[in-house]
Amino acid sequence: MAVRVCPHCKTEISAPEAAARSNDIVCPNCGTRLEVAPGARTISTLAGMAAGAVAWKLSIGGTGDLGGVLPTLYAFLAFGIVSPLVLMLTANLRNAPALPAPLPTAAGGPSGHGSSDPGGGHH
Ligand SMILES: [Zn+2]
Repeated sequence: MAVRVCPHCKTEISAPEAAARSNDIVCPNCGTRLEVAPGARTISTLAGMAAGAVAWKLSIGGTGDLGGVLPTLYAFLAFGIVSPLVLMLTANLRNAPALPAPLPTAAGGPSGHGSSDPGGGHH
């Protein structure tokens, strides 16, 4: 079973948390933004679709008034149940791509004057 730990401080992230917020997890200890590695999401989606296909095949043989509806319903349910479960089991965490942090404006920096006019007005 994959271990979901923060790559920075090794804090363990709970599986439901990782599955529910796979795009935007924040480490509860150090605040690092994390995300579930894309491989795990691909696997969980594929597994969900496979489960849906199996459920659809199993239920499509049934004849009856609901015969046309149930396969779709079962496939939908199977996907909705299996996919997050697999994601919980396989998820690995990695660092989320860094947001373009608003850097403090280079006041007193060695190359303070940038290329674009900051709008403050030269005189
Ligand atoms: Zn952390």
